[in-house]
Amino acid sequence: MCVKMNKIDIKSLNIEEMKDFLVKQGDRPFRAKQIYEWLHVKLVSDFGDMTNLSKQLREHLKEIGEITNLYLVDKLESKGGETSKFLFRLWDGKILESVLMKYHHGNSVCISSQVGCKMGCKFCASAIGGFERNLSPSEMLDQIYQIQRITGERVSNVVVMGTGEPLDNYDNLVKFIRLLTDENGLNISQRNITVSTCGLEDKIKDLAEEDLQITLALSLHAPNDRVRRQLMPVAERYDMESAIKACEFYYEKTGRRITFEYSMVEGVNDLPEHALELAGRVRGLNCHINLIPVNPIKERNYRQSEMKNILNFKNILEKYRINVTIRREMGTDIDAACGQLRKSYMDKTSD
Ligand code: SAH
Repeated sequence: MCVKMNKIDIKSLNIEEMKDFLVKQGDRPFRAKQIYEWLHVKLVSDFGDMTNLSKQLREHLKEIGEITNLYLVDKLESKGGETSKFLFRLWDGKILESVLMKYHHGNSVCISSQVGCKMGCKFCASAIGGFERNLSPSEMLDQIYQIQRITGERVSNVVVMGTGEPLDNYDNLVKFIRLLTDENGLNISQRNITVSTCGLEDKIKDLAEEDLQITLALSLHAPNDRVRRQLMPVAERYDMESAIKACEFYYEKTGRRITFEYSMVEGVNDLPEHALELAGRVRGLNCHINLIPVNPIKERNYRQSEMKNILNFKNILEKYRINVTIRREMGTDIDAACGQLRKSYMDKTSD
């Protein structure tokens, strides 16, 4: 395993920062673009592979810099092969998970933004072990890079919906998005990136001002604060109204339609009266609602709504001309939902 010393995390630098870094070391700034290409296009994991740099420069870089690499611990594939789950080990031994989903429109990767999570949502496996640490921009990027390297397939879409609350790791998240969409790097379109948040109002407003074209998804999961507080402790800090207002501001600033996620829990948030109340609240907003049958986790006794109730819920919303889809479940046979695979790995190894 790699031991991180006090070295520069070179994969988290943008081209300008890389130039400054080189100049400070007495190297020439035009090398920045070459190094950036090795790291973010050719996806090398060793300075020794950067063959168009002099041996001297490569050795110098090795002394002062460090290339973040995630180590594959396990890979599981769902029966049809459409979903693969990757468990990675970080330099300090921490474990994270990422998911690759193959759709007809391209490959989508779901990445983690933190190791563990502070938000404590009642139905989420990531909440159980608590928070460990933030991921750096390079650790978020390398989930995608490793998956491209391992599968040999290009990733076209990225969703930040794995473990963690991305807006609780705001600066690293924004840096990651800029690196991922840099035309000198993997050059993924901003429009193909979705960031999901449990609703940190002030950070949603900050994100609206970043001049990015990414999609914002708000985890709503309830039609009112009373129900929302039963499922999401964060709703005590930020009420639903202010989170939705922040999303409206995001739409005004970016022109990007908002997605609301709504995980359906039997008897808690899936009744017809909930659908009516939700319709009343989001009517007139330029939004899309994703209904997700909640993935039951063994530590909690929440049950998934029955399909007939989900369909009924959808019909009610559609009567009010609200865009709504039922998200199909992928990879439940390999614990693909939100922190479950990492959790079962940690349980096994902690004996
Ligand atoms: N912290 C962010 C992003 C990570 S969770 C957020 O809250 O949005 C990504 C999405 O999966 C969220 O909508 C979350 O509420 C949902 N989720 C978590 N566990 C789930 C489960 N067991 N079943 C269904 N959805 C779940």
